[in-house]
Amino acid sequence: MRISKGAVNRILLSAFCLGCGLGAAGAAKKPRAAFVVVEVGSGEPRTLAESGTEELAPVGSLLKPFAAWYLLEKGLDARQTILCPAERKREADLRCWTPEGHGAVNLGEALVHSCNYFFLSLFRGQSIPQFEIWMRERFQWPENLRIEKPVHVYGYDLDSGIAVSRLVTMYARLLEASAVKNPHAALITDSLAGTWRGTLRDFCRLLGNQKKYTFLWGKTGTVREGKHQYGIAVLHLKNNSTGKKLLLLCYERRKTGSQAALNALAVLQKYHP
Ligand SMILES: [Zn+2]
Repeated sequence: MRISKGAVNRILLSAFCLGCGLGAAGAAKKPRAAFVVVEVGSGEPRTLAESGTEELAPVGSLLKPFAAWYLLEKGLDARQTILCPAERKREADLRCWTPEGHGAVNLGEALVHSCNYFFLSLFRGQSIPQFEIWMRERFQWPENLRIEKPVHVYGYDLDSGIAVSRLVTMYARLLEASAVKNPHAALITDSLAGTWRGTLRDFCRLLGNQKKYTFLWGKTGTVREGKHQYGIAVLHLKNNSTGKKLLLLCYERRKTGSQAALNALAVLQKYHP
């Protein structure tokens, strides 16, 4: 996905200002891979390891599962398909990140392939201010991060990044709701399990070699403009020996979401969460 140069600058500025709060060393440091590992599924999420998270995280397509949840609550039939056509056949205000288009996709496939067109089309019949209110009420979406334009509903061109702790809380809620069989949340997490054959294929193949963790589900996001690019991935994993369930978020500049996910392998090897 692409975001405007202004928005990228605002992410950088936010990160810089956070760095200022930590002193000159924080602001001057080189870009590095940021991550947080959280144990979930047994009461409050518990942070097991964390690094670099003073830099705000890009949201990007990590917002799509929540846009999906909203659409389902508003009555979307998950079997409904939307045709994501090739670029030359698209209307000006409907777009997707792949020029070839995704063809006919339902909600599950739209999440696996991260189809922007699907969300843009379906939000045409929705109130974007209502979605913003819903995000604030349900997930404490930050007040300063406005959801005003159609492209905002899937994380495109947002004004800044987001504190990673907020993203962790959002995903922990999704996970909890899925665990107690909320049908919408369960449908979303079941769909996100399919990313092993999409943007998380490389990560899952390498994770399989380790045999220590099982991939349950995940989602990636890539935010780019010109030379600036950010990748982010959220991964839900199970430690096969301890049974612990983990949420792992990784993000890094100059990477795609798929590449940022590969950092998780090093995090797992180092911390054995
Ligand atoms: Zn598409």
